[in-house]
Amino acid sequence: MKHTDERIPSGDAARVKPVDRAAAETDRDGATVLPFNRYTDFGSHWPVPAQGEVLVVPLGGLGRIGMNWTLYGHAGRWILVDAGIAFADETLEGVDAIIPDPAFLAPIMDRLDGLVVTHAHEDHIGAIDRVWPHVIGCPIWATPYAAAMLERRFDEAGTLSEIDLRTYPVGGSFEVGPFSIRSVRMTHSVPEPVALAIGTAAGTVLHTGDWKLDPEPLIGEPADLDALRAIGDAGVLAMLCDSTNAHKSLPRTSEAQVREAFKRLFAARKGQVAVVCFSTNVARLASAAVAAESSGRQIALAGRSIRNSEETARSLGLLDSVPHFLAEPAHLKGLDRVQTALVCTGAQGEERAALAKLARGDWRLPSFGPGDTVVLSARVIPGNEEAVDKVVSKLRSRGVEVLMGDESFEGAPLHVSGHPGADELRELYGLVRPRFAIPVHGTEMHLTAHARLARESGVEAALVTEEAEVIRLSHAGACVTGHVPVPKLHLASDERGNRVVLGRHGIAAV
Ligand SMILES: [Zn+2]
Ligand SMILES: [Zn+2]
Repeated sequence: MKHTDERIPSGDAARVKPVDRAAAETDRDGATVLPFNRYTDFGSHWPVPAQGEVLVVPLGGLGRIGMNWTLYGHAGRWILVDAGIAFADETLEGVDAIIPDPAFLAPIMDRLDGLVVTHAHEDHIGAIDRVWPHVIGCPIWATPYAAAMLERRFDEAGTLSEIDLRTYPVGGSFEVGPFSIRSVRMTHSVPEPVALAIGTAAGTVLHTGDWKLDPEPLIGEPADLDALRAIGDAGVLAMLCDSTNAHKSLPRTSEAQVREAFKRLFAARKGQVAVVCFSTNVARLASAAVAAESSGRQIALAGRSIRNSEETARSLGLLDSVPHFLAEPAHLKGLDRVQTALVCTGAQGEERAALAKLARGDWRLPSFGPGDTVVLSARVIPGNEEAVDKVVSKLRSRGVEVLMGDESFEGAPLHVSGHPGADELRELYGLVRPRFAIPVHGTEMHLTAHARLARESGVEAALVTEEAEVIRLSHAGACVTGHVPVPKLHLASDERGNRVVLGRHGIAAV
């Protein structure tokens, strides 16, 4: 069976294989990368990482949003950091997620010591219950919140007993094979996001995960800047860091500002109010609960995933000071409109999510109409604009006022990003002072902007690489040595919601 890779060749000299010596020694997207060995197509013979080096292989998350999978190799062994999905756009009919084809990890499967999860967003954990335990069986390490979310999924799939799921505390250290890992508390739009300082005999690589610097994250504490500085003091060979907002110079923002906006809005409106956010944005739904209480409203959660997320967060004590939600949205019926509030899933316009149901007038939800307000407290992910527009228009045609995430209410933002702007990135580079920067988590535009910023911050080189490329880091330098063949797998859900494999990219069926 023929597998094709979906990367689009761009004509960059470094991507032509093999490169000639003269071209190889020129800058790669402006980075001085020395020494640049012959670019290799590793085929089924994956490189064997030596004692004196760290190999980094980002299988996803580069040139696209989503599908974060990063392999680290050292002293003959490998670990994987995160195993997420990318959402398919509408050009791929019937496909609901894309992942790197795990079958292509076969050559290193017996040397894969563990999967380490940075946080519980779908683009970081979404593939795990689809791939473990049947295709990959290595132990999974996660913080309590991410572990509980995964446990629930494995339990539903009936495979929990076959999984080796281990919990590590935020800020805790642990060993996986030859890697000494220290987790560092960060802030992001989900509970317990961590950066991972991955220590090896060849140096430390800091994998930031998704982060921002929020002085008042509401759930959990602010990022541990002292730990980051200490890791920087000890010396960091390279940093793989979030590029989502690298091209933007953003003001510093906080969840506390959104809570303030909700309080003002909930108090000012005379009709029903619904907040729409990602189900794992526990601080956001907590803010809605707090705003509801302070304005004398009852509040419920609409959507299975948001109820699961709230239940998990509450069981871990993350919502101890937050008022409870009603058991069912239907319990809001019959209340005065000014006493009613709702938190919904469906901020990306998903047809089966609660917001779309609200827009359709589903009988299980309170009926929204003139005088009522819906707040889309989330960013619309590029590619989903049309779906969101459709739901928003439907709500507006019912007379509902819809406020978008980039709007503010009485001066306070209705949504803030969970990713760092250029300013926060500069601050992190100042603390960590890595020798090399490898921008990740972004399209080429984001990665290039991030690389420029990293160079200005004083790194020796910033490497803009592609998915499945092999980056060798050692005291001698950083270089892109070649690539491994890892095509993409398309996943779909059947009518019962079970996830099935639809096909490999470029092939009709498996
Ligand atoms: Zn992410
Ligand atoms: Zn995230």
